[in-house]
Amino acid sequence: MADKLFRLEIIKPDGIFYEGEVRMVEYNTTEGEVGVYADHIPMTQIIAPGVLIITEAENEKKAALSAGFVEVEADKVTMLAESVEWPQDIDLNRAKEAETRARRRIDTSKDGMDIARAELALKRALLRQEVAKY
Ligand code: ATP
Repeated sequence: MADKLFRLEIIKPDGIFYEGEVRMVEYNTTEGEVGVYADHIPMTQIIAPGVLIITEAENEKKAALSAGFVEVEADKVTMLAESVEWPQDIDLNRAKEAETRARRRIDTSKDGMDIARAELALKRALLRQEVAKY
């Protein structure tokens, strides 16, 4: 089963981020971390911030995946990614500044709504700093 390839397409707002034949794709969703092989049962998922790992026949690629949707079909996985970056495209200073801003908002916020948004921004900032090291 693990030898069988399937098509992965990752679309972001300004165009195609990735397309190819892969063995496995791993990512984080609002329901937890998932790993998808060929012939998976169809499902749709909401992406949560996490490391995207694409296992090709010969290589492994990693990226920071922050938000979007996934549609899983038996022979194809389509991701509509609101924000996704390869390690080399991550601006580390920008992610550090975003972390500082998010922490300040969490510390000074008075109502719960703002905290949830700031916590999500903090997760994206920490994820980008982690993935920038790959
Ligand atoms: P910031 O506050 O720095 O804008 P953010 O988490 O609010 O960060 P997003 O809304 O997730 O940013 O993303 C907006 C766009 O900017 C996306 O295209 C995303 O890929 C890109 N982006 C955000 N942060 C970085 C970064 N540190 N390095 C490279 N691209 C980034």
